[in-house]
Amino acid sequence: MKRTKIKALLSTSQVGSEVLVKGWVRTKRGNKNVVFIALNDGSTINNIQVVADTVSFDENLIKDITTGACIAVSGKLVESQGQGQKVEINASSIELYGKSDAETYPLQKKGHSMEFLRENAHLRFRTNTFGAVFRIRHSMAFAIHNYFNDKGFFYLHTPIITGSDAEGAGEMFHVTTMDLNKLVHKEDGSLDFNGDFFGKETNLTVSGQLEGELGALSLGEIYTFGPTFRAENSNTPRHLAEFWMIEPEMSFYDLNDNMDLAEEFVKYLIKYALENCREDLEFLNNMIDNKLLEKLNFVLNNEFVRITYTEAVSILTATGKKWDYMVGWGRDLQAEHERYLVEEHFKRPVILTDYPREIKAFYMKQNEDGKTVRAMDVLFPGIGEIIGGSQREENYEKLLARITEMKLPQKDLWWYLDTRKFGTAPHSGFGLGFERLILFVTGMSNIRDVIPFPRTPKNAEF
Ligand code: ATP
Ligand code: MN
Repeated sequence: MKRTKIKALLSTSQVGSEVLVKGWVRTKRGNKNVVFIALNDGSTINNIQVVADTVSFDENLIKDITTGACIAVSGKLVESQGQGQKVEINASSIELYGKSDAETYPLQKKGHSMEFLRENAHLRFRTNTFGAVFRIRHSMAFAIHNYFNDKGFFYLHTPIITGSDAEGAGEMFHVTTMDLNKLVHKEDGSLDFNGDFFGKETNLTVSGQLEGELGALSLGEIYTFGPTFRAENSNTPRHLAEFWMIEPEMSFYDLNDNMDLAEEFVKYLIKYALENCREDLEFLNNMIDNKLLEKLNFVLNNEFVRITYTEAVSILTATGKKWDYMVGWGRDLQAEHERYLVEEHFKRPVILTDYPREIKAFYMKQNEDGKTVRAMDVLFPGIGEIIGGSQREENYEKLLARITEMKLPQKDLWWYLDTRKFGTAPHSGFGLGFERLILFVTGMSNIRDVIPFPRTPKNAEF
């Protein structure tokens, strides 16, 4: 007999037919005559109830069916007599694939703390919460490709190992095959990379943007979606050392087009989740954040506020509040400021534009005022910055001047500068942190709980 997934079983009426299901035992209860097994196979948050008459089965088999064990069950799908489920399986045979010792199985009991589950990240997939989170994460990845494909954007794979460190100075992970115990130094004391794999210093990428721009300036509209790495020592609930980023890059888009795209994109993803991940979202709404569905609908149905950095600073100053970090024109905004604007002042997502050039990257298009650049950050409730982007500087001289001014290694950026020499074009793009999106969509509060295997300072166990 062919195996049916539990999701299919519960959504189509196959009542009366013989079925075969395989999965992991969530709970077993009953008495000496009959046992009820809640079985889950990961296809859905819902379990199927398996009913087994103890007389028909080996006593030891029934004993071995404990929480966490893996079994295959065949039997007849019937309407349930009990409460809580429409259908159940009357087991005619049960095969035990894998026992799960009740004494030592870490998830024997329910209600573990998130911290405990992080320490047991190899098993946490088996909880309802993490099952829901990772099914939603999958759906969001799928929806992202769907969205861009429908709009005619091309998925461009940018490199993970990069030879340029223009963007990530000081925050990058080195990539090397050199023997760390026998490093060779040059006369001036600096490391000699001649003998290294690439014959030069290389790092893990912090962003695919610069390479993405090269693609956009020919293919028109592209996006990258891949892992990025930052060796920043930010031990916050919103930072990972390895995270995934979606970076669309579009020729002929100005800052307004860029904002329109960002808003439409995020709303598409939220709508997709509401339409396709309903049961998982309802579960998370019940168990994790009882405002979740309300928040998702609210963001979907309201326009994002768009104001300049300068206006934001005025608003923050006018509150007269005591902040942990000072507010002042020219200073970067911290999460507390971003969240005040979003959660208390405007009470909806905010896009801040035209930041001071000093606190933003070299490639952002400089405004006429000589002080600000055409940057945009999208700020979300509970998260702060979810997207960072800008219109890019397309003028060769201005870009070069900025690179020189910021003392960036021009020799490493010759290929980037070439695009401004040969057929430059106005263009824009942004980066959406995938895990920050998943935080928002799932209502989870720590970024370590929305990526299967989080990498953070001093933590790379699994
Ligand atoms: P933040 O100020 O929050 O550290 P950033 O200004 O460094 O963010 P960008 O370099 O603009 O962020 O990156 C684009 C997006 O990538 C951010 O808007 C955010 O969603 C995400 N992001 C940035 N750093 C991290 C990180 N360490 N872990 C997870 N996501 C991140
Ligand atoms: Mn950062």
